[in-house]
Amino acid sequence: MPRPLVATIEISALQHNLAVAQSCAPRTKVWAVVKANAYGHGLARGMQGFAAAHGLGLIEVDGAVHLREFGWSGPILLLEGVFEPADLQVVAKHQIQIAVHCREQIDMLERAQLASQVDVHLKMNSGMNRLGFKPDAYRSAYDRLRALPIVRNIALMTHFANADDAANLRMPLAEQLRRFQETTAELPGERSLSNSAACLLHPEAAGDWIRPGIMLYGATPGVKSAAAFGLKPAMTLTSEIIGIQQISAGETVGYGSGFVADASMKVGIVACGYADGYPRHAPTGTPIVVDGVRTRVVGRVSMDMICVDLAPIPQAHVGSSVTLWGEGLPIDEVATAAGTVGYELMCALAPRVRVIEK
Ligand SMILES: *Cc1c(COP(=O)(O)O)cnc(C)c1O
Repeated sequence: MPRPLVATIEISALQHNLAVAQSCAPRTKVWAVVKANAYGHGLARGMQGFAAAHGLGLIEVDGAVHLREFGWSGPILLLEGVFEPADLQVVAKHQIQIAVHCREQIDMLERAQLASQVDVHLKMNSGMNRLGFKPDAYRSAYDRLRALPIVRNIALMTHFANADDAANLRMPLAEQLRRFQETTAELPGERSLSNSAACLLHPEAAGDWIRPGIMLYGATPGVKSAAAFGLKPAMTLTSEIIGIQQISAGETVGYGSGFVADASMKVGIVACGYADGYPRHAPTGTPIVVDGVRTRVVGRVSMDMICVDLAPIPQAHVGSSVTLWGEGLPIDEVATAAGTVGYELMCALAPRVRVIEK
């Protein structure tokens, strides 16, 4: 008997969400981002769900090769570029496009002997101060790349720090956009700037390609609710009640005995714990659905189980269905309660969880 814990991945939701992303910027091409195993949904499933995308973007070089092996013949972009010179051979062989964000990556290209040309995306650090060349170093990096016979097209890219937060005045999106546009005004090449938050909230930044990730999986980067944007959850994590305890006022639940019942209550034990990817820091009160009714986690999350308050579901029994997140319970709500983001929950889905496709 398998454990009742299952992650159901809905390919049609991936397709639907891609169409929503495209509708944010109708004339723009789309890099569907499938890094981190398609945000925990499975790389092959991501490829299937995003068949209508113009290209697939990811971080992992081996993942890019897998996409070719799975039959993806369209553009692939390595969003952080290569990590060592040997990667360039792989990239040239499989016609994988690469970001170039630092001097050392240009050094590697200058020294490389490649059988074919590569397309590169020159990354600007327009204010996030993570990857990329600062505006004052951008033009000389461009010129170095342009001088290399093995470089075919040079596209221009940057990444926003606060596309989800208009109130952030430390580095407003408009300032990053201004720096990017000013620095690249004279340069040819396709532009890409927008992550999901920028796609949803800043159509003015769209450029020639957008790079949505999280929204394609039916969650948001912390803006409104996914449903308000017409997004559908692609991953639903479900399990069952595997035990029930009747406890009295004053009794406690789980490790540390941190939860104390203030009245007699029934506690349901759910087959899902932090070894499955459920966040260990989810506190008492984190939303969870039992037999279609919303209730709360009580006590500490353990490795293989969590405990839930069955007061609102008196008919609940061993075998009752439980939704941890997804259809019927937005992953963003669970993430917020646990002090994290939907991204982290999806990506942390553990290998031991059975996955089925719908
Ligand atoms: C992950 C990533 C994205 C997608 O970001 P979301 O917030 O998931 O939409 C876009 N661009 C780059 C460079 C990334 O690494």
